[in-house]
Amino acid sequence: MSADLPAGARVLIMAPLGADATNIQNVLTGAGLASKIGRTEADFRADILGGNCGALLVTEEALSPALIRALGEVCEAQPPWSDLPVVLISSLDLAQAGSKGVTLLRGPRRIVTLLERPLRSVTLLATLHAVLAARHRQYEIRDLLEERDALLSSLETRVAQRTAELQRMVQEMEAFSYSVSHDLRSPLRSLAGYAEVLLEDFAAELPPEARTYLDKIARAAKRMDNLTQDVLAYTRATRCEMETTTVDLDSLFAEMIEQYPALGASAECFRVQRPLGRVRGHVPSLVQCFSNLLGNAVKFVPPGRAPRIEVCAEQNGPWRRVSVKDNGIGIEPGQQERIFGMFERVAGREIPGTGIGLAIVKKAVERMGGKVGVTSAPGAGAEFWVELLSEEPARPAAGQKECVTAEAGAATEESAGVSVTR
Ligand code: ADP
Repeated sequence: MSADLPAGARVLIMAPLGADATNIQNVLTGAGLASKIGRTEADFRADILGGNCGALLVTEEALSPALIRALGEVCEAQPPWSDLPVVLISSLDLAQAGSKGVTLLRGPRRIVTLLERPLRSVTLLATLHAVLAARHRQYEIRDLLEERDALLSSLETRVAQRTAELQRMVQEMEAFSYSVSHDLRSPLRSLAGYAEVLLEDFAAELPPEARTYLDKIARAAKRMDNLTQDVLAYTRATRCEMETTTVDLDSLFAEMIEQYPALGASAECFRVQRPLGRVRGHVPSLVQCFSNLLGNAVKFVPPGRAPRIEVCAEQNGPWRRVSVKDNGIGIEPGQQERIFGMFERVAGREIPGTGIGLAIVKKAVERMGGKVGVTSAPGAGAEFWVELLSEEPARPAAGQKECVTAEAGAATEESAGVSVTR
């Protein structure tokens, strides 16, 4: 058996009568099987828990209530790979009701082989070889499981190390792009500035072709400046401290719309359905996100159409969903997820941009613990929504739309003293 089982594994013999235990051990030793004689239930537990028990060889006389209980407990507590083989030597009729052997047989996770007295050595050895071969397979499974666990844990460690490494690399890249973008701005401004000076102060002396080139230089420098500004804004959105507070969206939008020149449209274009309510958020990031959405809503309208933008909010369980709807060119369903990626724009549109605005919105909103999305159809306008944790007191009915009519909005406007619904 030593050859079949791992080192230290042996047959535990529990036979209290006369010289039974010694006789059995002699037979086993003669056949090259390692064994140990156990006297008490405590010996049995120690051997099993030490992982040394290849099989339990027990005579019926040894089956004290304590040993039967211990056997039950130990068998049920075995690791998944193990089913301890038990060989029971009995002189009673095995079918006899009330036999201790029958009691022992009952219960889960125990494989019991019965041998009747008088017992011949050859029968005992043949039985033990068979059960130890089965036990050998169990030890093999245990080793494989241990190997798998070791592999998994080393894999997890490697994944964690690689993730940390990647995070560090991403941080370095972000820091690098931030500093490059930052440093690029000054030469770009000089470029644009000098081109404009040349165009303004020396226009009369310059041939038309030179003026065209200078104009192109000034516009390219401006485009590049916009790009670096957006990269800087994106880096800020990914790296800034996100200390969130309760934010009153009505005041936030009122202020943003009052500064409407920055959004590229007159305030008449905007209709804010109040009350928008309050959310948990980071004010500078919210201003950045909503001005990007409002700016896009103004920008992506067909030529000759006046932009009409509506902002409203609704409660959605613990969330407050703020929507910015426009009457613009809309977005095809196939593009609606993609446009939230960095530098992603819809092909074939002549409207200038960098493709970073929505990536900033997504990043910032996610960092505030919220979600962002869009519903739209080509030619039918777009509705961008941002969902953030609500800071509103419990609402009467979750999910109930709270957008009010334009007239009702106008009435609230006066009482609140904030100019939003126009
Ligand atoms: P940019 O506006 O600089 O191009 P964004 O990341 O803000 O970059 O937007 C990505 C693209 O998504 C835009 O180029 C445009 O094609 C599309 N898009 C964004 N907002 C709207 C909108 N309100 N209506 C139609 N298309 C939009």
